[in-house]
Amino acid sequence: MKIKDILSNKRFTLSFEVFPPKRDGNLEALFDTISVLIKFKPDFISVTYGAGGSNKDLALEIGSRVKNQLQQEVLAHLTCVGATASDIAEILSAFRKEHIENILALRGDPPAGTEKFKRTEGGFAYASELVAFINSEGSFSIGAAGYPQGHIEAMSLEADIINLKRKVDAGTDFLITQFFFDNDDFYKFLDKTAQAKITIPIIPGIIPILNYKQIKRMAQLNGHELPVRLNKYMESIAEHPAEVEKYGIDYATRQAQELLNYGVRGIHFYCMNRSAPVQQILSNLSLPR
Ligand code: FAD
Repeated sequence: MKIKDILSNKRFTLSFEVFPPKRDGNLEALFDTISVLIKFKPDFISVTYGAGGSNKDLALEIGSRVKNQLQQEVLAHLTCVGATASDIAEILSAFRKEHIENILALRGDPPAGTEKFKRTEGGFAYASELVAFINSEGSFSIGAAGYPQGHIEAMSLEADIINLKRKVDAGTDFLITQFFFDNDDFYKFLDKTAQAKITIPIIPGIIPILNYKQIKRMAQLNGHELPVRLNKYMESIAEHPAEVEKYGIDYATRQAQELLNYGVRGIHFYCMNRSAPVQQILSNLSLPR
């Protein structure tokens, strides 16, 4: 089923993001995780895509197993990095063959060792161009990324939202946000996108802090710091991984419950390929389902 149709039929969607294990990684461990996650009846599971398509085959294999063996809807991520339009057409055709109907269209980050994203000759410079291309192929529901604190390369949040509107106008059906730790950033983002006449569903992305140093680094790569109080507390327990994880789960639970009270259209959990933390978070939430 297309996520566009799920969103028009349901007031709230639950979704989980997983990533292909690193080379020689254990696919069965990932499927153990997914088999626990699907007990929560997610509306879809998203599968990330290595920036340069390095894990293209594995991402396709995971997507296909989730869709065809586990009978779960899949949102397959896809980036423009290192790909021509005909490469993208080939990948779309492979997704179509596996009955995958939903694509998260992304530009992707500049490849390691380079500072600026460079369009591949015959490829795409922005996610909006990829969205338009996928749209012209006809058969997919298309999602795209939104940044409540603004994308790192944008001059300002306002400038980023102008570009976001282009991406929406190119045929995006829904947005999933980058993770954030202060819900006010998300509420302000909703106000600003509404002012920009972006009316498609915007699903907040939540990440539990399970490893403080890793999340801090990820936030910095996105050009952001953790909120001061959260950061200060995390610094104080940083040498105690079990405490970090416990507090991270607790924080994500409170954050998600507040978003639910606000009436968000869904929640997308960045699971980090683990089921237990999300299981704990969900067991403490009352989802509107
Ligand atoms: P775009 O929407 O193209 O925006 C990139 C920058 O260009 C922004 O600063 C924007 O303001 C600017 N811009 C856009 N259009 C124009 C224009 N017409 N003129 C001038 N400036 C413009 N990366 C992966 O490699 N694999 C994944 O699986 C993956 N999954 C993700 C999932 C989510 C939910 C999110 C939020 C991010 C994900 N990313 C992933 C990261 C993403 O690829 C990077 O953040 C990347 O730097 C930007 O991608 P984008 O699709 O948002 O780009």
